Amino acid sequence: MPGEIRVRFAPSPTGLPHIGNIRTALFNWLFARHHSGKFIVRVEDTDQARLVPGSIEAMLDGLRWLNIDWDEGPEVGGPFGPYFQSERLDIYHDLAERLVSQGNAYHCYCAQKPSSNDDERQRDRRVSASADCNCRGLTPEEIVELSGGQESNVVRFAMPKEGVTRVNDLIRGEVEWRNETQNDFIILKSDGFPTYHLAVVADDHLMEISHVMRAEEWLPSTPRHLQLFEALGFEPPQFAHLPMIMGMDGTKLSKRHGATAIGEYKDAGILPHALLNFMVLLGWSLDDKTDVVTSQTVIDNFTLDRITKSSAIFDQVKLQWMNGMYIRELSPEQLAGEMVPFLERDLPKDMLPVDREYLRQIAPLLQERMKSLEESADSTLYFFQANEGFDTETLVQKGMDRDSTLSALKAALDDLDAADDYAPKKLEEMLTATGEKLSLSRRQFFGVLRVAATGRAVSPPLFEMMEVMGKDRTVSRVKNALERFGAAN
Ligand code: GLU
Repeated sequence: MPGEIRVRFAPSPTGLPHIGNIRTALFNWLFARHHSGKFIVRVEDTDQARLVPGSIEAMLDGLRWLNIDWDEGPEVGGPFGPYFQSERLDIYHDLAERLVSQGNAYHCYCAQKPSSNDDERQRDRRVSASADCNCRGLTPEEIVELSGGQESNVVRFAMPKEGVTRVNDLIRGEVEWRNETQNDFIILKSDGFPTYHLAVVADDHLMEISHVMRAEEWLPSTPRHLQLFEALGFEPPQFAHLPMIMGMDGTKLSKRHGATAIGEYKDAGILPHALLNFMVLLGWSLDDKTDVVTSQTVIDNFTLDRITKSSAIFDQVKLQWMNGMYIRELSPEQLAGEMVPFLERDLPKDMLPVDREYLRQIAPLLQERMKSLEESADSTLYFFQANEGFDTETLVQKGMDRDSTLSALKAALDDLDAADDYAPKKLEEMLTATGEKLSLSRRQFFGVLRVAATGRAVSPPLFEMMEVMGKDRTVSRVKNALERFGAAN
């Protein structure tokens, strides 16, 4: 591709970043990295009324968490700054005036026009819709009369009345609009801020953006942008509109589909690499069959022809599955490290701090089934503390009665107390023989033991688990279960 690839992620700080925003950031970043170009973050804070404090920090935190680094933008600066549009107002004013002097834009006085029973909100609404605006053809005398001598800050772009505006979108192909269907949109507002349309065109040009890759919802704005580029004599960048993201039911993605603000995935125990991999597949694919793919492979293969035109589907179950895949790739040490913040958050405070070496041994036992780090506390609780509260009736396995359960617990306790070698194989041999002597099936005998050791019917493999718990804990848990069960009978 000729020239340097420069792409941007241009969030508006109007709320917490969601999966759609970050997918846009991710695709731009991948494209930049594939072409050894630049990835720029630009904050589009021109809609002052809708600013939500903290949203930019949340956006940047989200990018950092996912290891999406930016070459220019907030915190890192760069040669094309400032990267906050609110700090670039002079630029937009100059361009708006230039458009006015060229006859491509005009001051609008609708807000100043007196009108009976017209409150402020109505006036605002009226001024944004251009349907009843006829300021475009005003003579200087009419302006003086209408404005009452007051300067108007509202500037509208004078859309050509004829012809078509065409874009050759790199994903959607050729799209065209009849100019007569476009209204004279506002480029400068009465608060002195530009609208998105003017600011985006100015900055994409001044920041030398080569490709605008953004959500499909912006496609209808593209003819406005192209007309602005042309009127200003700027070469437009290439456009690539990314497919929509839908829920499983085919409707626009929302919280209802399990899609939440990006920070919530972290709190819900999703690994950043898993989320990244999942998001990559929201509109892009390596081939028809590969789901789990490293960032480097994606970067190496990230070309726009692999982006789909059709909507991407957000499948919450697939995200959990993907997360499980990534959890299984961690070393015991890494998994233990990832679990610690969740244990610190969710375990009873008297169980903290956790014994890190013990956790490192527990981690591989859980790894096979874990789908989210959020399960950390629940699935390790009984390793740290005897489960005193479980219903001892659950010790009784199918086909057993109280007596046989009691005998099973006693025999197992004798074995476990006498044994010194807790290697899983040894434990299995010893307890299998005991179970046979008691004429219990493996399912029955080991079922009793599992409940005695954990208080639960489901756990990691029994003997590996006992090895990790060690003799003291195992014996004390089985003893405790025996005493509680005996006392209840
Ligand atoms: N500020 C717009 C947004 O929040 C960006 C649109 C664009 O990339 O042109 O999505």
